[in-house]
Amino acid sequence: MPVDDTSENLNICMDYCGTCPSQPFPPQPFLYCARGKSDQKITKSGCKCPICGVYKKYKLDTGNPYFCETGKAP
Ligand code: SF4
Repeated sequence: MPVDDTSENLNICMDYCGTCPSQPFPPQPFLYCARGKSDQKITKSGCKCPICGVYKKYKLDTGNPYFCETGKAP
């Protein structure tokens, strides 16, 4: 099921992507699993997506996804 671009999901994302060590700068658009990837280069220093509530809610069982780099969740 595709991730919905809602304010509720964005707020959850901010708790994870918002403090992510790999976060692109500028850190936009957030909610990468729903909105798509960042146009910035990602330096992979860890990915918090697998512990995020959105990831769990939508059962995004894709390992260590780096949605900020790979784009929307399938
Ligand atoms: S799975 Fe990753 S990109 Fe998606 S809401 Fe959670 S932290 Fe943000």
